[in-house]
Amino acid sequence: MTKLDVVIRHGEIVTAAGSTGRADVGISNGTIVQIGGVVEGHLELDATGKLVLPGGIDAHVHLSVPPEEENVDPRWVDDFTSGSAAALAGGITTLGNMTFPSPEETPLAELERETAVAREQIIADLFLHPVLDKVTPQVLDEIPRLLDTGCNSIKVFMVTSNFESQVRSYVEAIRRAGENGLITLIHCEDYALIEDATARLVAAGKSSLRYYAESRPVISEVVATQRAVAFAEATGAPVYIVHLSSARALEVCAEAQSRNVPVYVETRPLYLHLTRERFEDEDGAKYVGQPPLREQQDIDALWAGIRQGTVHTVCTDHAPWLLAAKLDPAHTITNLRPGVANLQTMLPMLFSEGVRSGRITLGRFVEVTSTNAAKLFGLYPRKGTIAVGSDADLVIFDPDLTLAIEGSRLKSNSDYSAFEGWQVTGWPVVTLRRGEIVFRDGEIIGRPGSGTIVPRGATTPL
Ligand SMILES: [Zn+2]
Repeated sequence: MTKLDVVIRHGEIVTAAGSTGRADVGISNGTIVQIGGVVEGHLELDATGKLVLPGGIDAHVHLSVPPEEENVDPRWVDDFTSGSAAALAGGITTLGNMTFPSPEETPLAELERETAVAREQIIADLFLHPVLDKVTPQVLDEIPRLLDTGCNSIKVFMVTSNFESQVRSYVEAIRRAGENGLITLIHCEDYALIEDATARLVAAGKSSLRYYAESRPVISEVVATQRAVAFAEATGAPVYIVHLSSARALEVCAEAQSRNVPVYVETRPLYLHLTRERFEDEDGAKYVGQPPLREQQDIDALWAGIRQGTVHTVCTDHAPWLLAAKLDPAHTITNLRPGVANLQTMLPMLFSEGVRSGRITLGRFVEVTSTNAAKLFGLYPRKGTIAVGSDADLVIFDPDLTLAIEGSRLKSNSDYSAFEGWQVTGWPVVTLRRGEIVFRDGEIIGRPGSGTIVPRGATTPL
């Protein structure tokens, strides 16, 4: 009998359908070639007592710096190598990065420039979302050509004056994206309401970050989400709401979904585990993200949304800083550094707080961390599941391993975690990316440049 490259023995195989029982998984040339049955491998991994999960797909990370900010210091501190290390140690094998344009740069040029950088650095597999800035006729003309280059998404920030000055062009961009198999990612916060709330707080002498949540109220997210839903409804094009944070914005999406409007929802760990009281802490600035932390009822609604299927993905929005930069005493509600590092802790925390505590099933856990993103971003079934013919992106996951989160010991170049000291049960022990062991027993083994930019097909509706 010919030997396979790698065999994972005795693990409990988990997909979006839940646990499918214990079976050996055979891997050859980076692909899963056999599940169950008698096989021998050159390399054998024992997964007794462990889960075998499809590699996580985190569709929302920031591992590169907008070109116009290249000389700004400090900046986000992870490149594609350190970001990959954090991801792989956290069970995530594929990353979707936000690619920002330099002034006047078109989507195809953005992709070409960032692909060249990423190719040298990446260890995980990668895809890129070109961000739209000025929506010129040339930008609109390129949208139908993106899928041919392996890109099935664009990203739009609704939270800027730039958006407000060209709404109609953005609607046309979303329409063309949908007509050509692409999905549009939208940051839903309303520019005018945030400016208004912020100005009133500043005038009242409340500009410290203690008032950060009030400066970006829930209503600013609700009205922007309603608008995104309206764009999807008017154009028929799918939209993907990034980092949704509130119960009321989720209600807007759920209502649209019930009418078959193609609206997909992402949330992130900040909104599943922390409430706005954290901004009153002395070091509350370290929790600042956009949108801000909300209330316990919002946390409960988001967990219910994952359970019920109105929330489709949990992604990190990994935007790493050094703690000193984040806690700069000069920061106010008008001058701050949004975002936190999350890549290594997201899956373990979702498992610990979600699956172990009975809030969500194991199948749903896989669905929101891998399978749904694979479908929406044109990677399924090559990625996002465990099946013969799929890429051997696999995580051997110890459901009983308990570790306390220590930000300074994580793989990200960020030196703290928003979840410092949390006891978390359930961690990856081995991660394989296309059949190659890239993380094992705490160490990253994968080589920078060994990851690939994965070509994507059209969006598959969920
Ligand atoms: Zn982001």
